[in-house]
Amino acid sequence: MTSTSSPIDLRSDTLTSPSPAMRKAMFDAPVGDDVYGEDPTVNALQESVAALLDKEAALFAPSGTQSNLLALFAHCDRGDEYLVGDSAHTFRYEGGGAAVLGSISPQPLPMAFDGTLTLDDIEAAIKPTDFHFARSRVICLENTHAGEPLPLGYAEAVASLAEQHGLGMHLDGARLFNAALAQNRTPAALAAPFDTVSVCLSKGLGAPVGSVLAGSQMLIEEAKRWRKVLGGGMRQAGIIAAAGLYALEHQIDDLAQDHQHAEQLANCLTDNFGESAVRVATNMIHLNLPEETYAGLAEHLSDIGVRVGRPRWVMHRDIASSDIEALCRAIQGFSTG
Ligand SMILES: *Cc1c(COP(=O)(O)O)cnc(C)c1O
Repeated sequence: MTSTSSPIDLRSDTLTSPSPAMRKAMFDAPVGDDVYGEDPTVNALQESVAALLDKEAALFAPSGTQSNLLALFAHCDRGDEYLVGDSAHTFRYEGGGAAVLGSISPQPLPMAFDGTLTLDDIEAAIKPTDFHFARSRVICLENTHAGEPLPLGYAEAVASLAEQHGLGMHLDGARLFNAALAQNRTPAALAAPFDTVSVCLSKGLGAPVGSVLAGSQMLIEEAKRWRKVLGGGMRQAGIIAAAGLYALEHQIDDLAQDHQHAEQLANCLTDNFGESAVRVATNMIHLNLPEETYAGLAEHLSDIGVRVGRPRWVMHRDIASSDIEALCRAIQGFSTG
């Protein structure tokens, strides 16, 4: 067992703490007033993400929730709607912000475990031009969805449908870099079918805060206007942007270790609970155990300082290989004890 001073926390990959080197980059960052467009570190981060995703422009936002909202505001006007999966973050987990703040309504559609909506469902949900209906404006996808990368080629198929109907395409790519790594594609290739793409810096990348929205010059200009309206125009934001820039420069490749850890831990769980109880997806493990078994396991693990959520366990850069070994031993102890 490791002598961890900090607990092994598998509840989310948002729980990472900035490393000393990242904190130094923040300390050293040149700054200016970003509302004036004069923060060199924010500008560098935006240029770097635009280049990485092969888009014209990008905009730093305080959170993924806000950058998704900015995208919806950029694509839609009052009375418009977005088509979205019924378990997508942009539908379920963002407080209904598009409707609350933008008078934009969601059209939720059944969403498979891998983040796909059927093309038939999408096509049937696109409204004809008629004042009885909200105006369908944009299709929102998510990659990864609960750790699962979208199947290759799927977004292209949706984009061609969107084009036939004159709709935009937005990607909630909070964990796009995990998908790119798992599928051996560049982030730009996975971003290509979309007009706008939001990525998170504060998930597996390990920055304390921040998200970036990338897209065409025109959509990003519009998003920038709404960011100010929503109170997201920040001043010497280079202090936090520096962490994101550092993460992109030094920590993207470390996501591979999270994926390896997930595989390794999933193998231990499979040995104890059987294949049907365990599904691994990039940096996440989904456990399907009877309520009582799961509660017993969670309690057993809490004895060695492990925190787990439900329904998934999430790997991140503050989980060490020795932590995975300790977890495996504890899991073995649970099944035999
Ligand atoms: C975390 C996350 C977001 C953004 O969340 P914030 O906490 O607002 O940064 C968006 N979409 C998905 C799929 C996420 O996991």
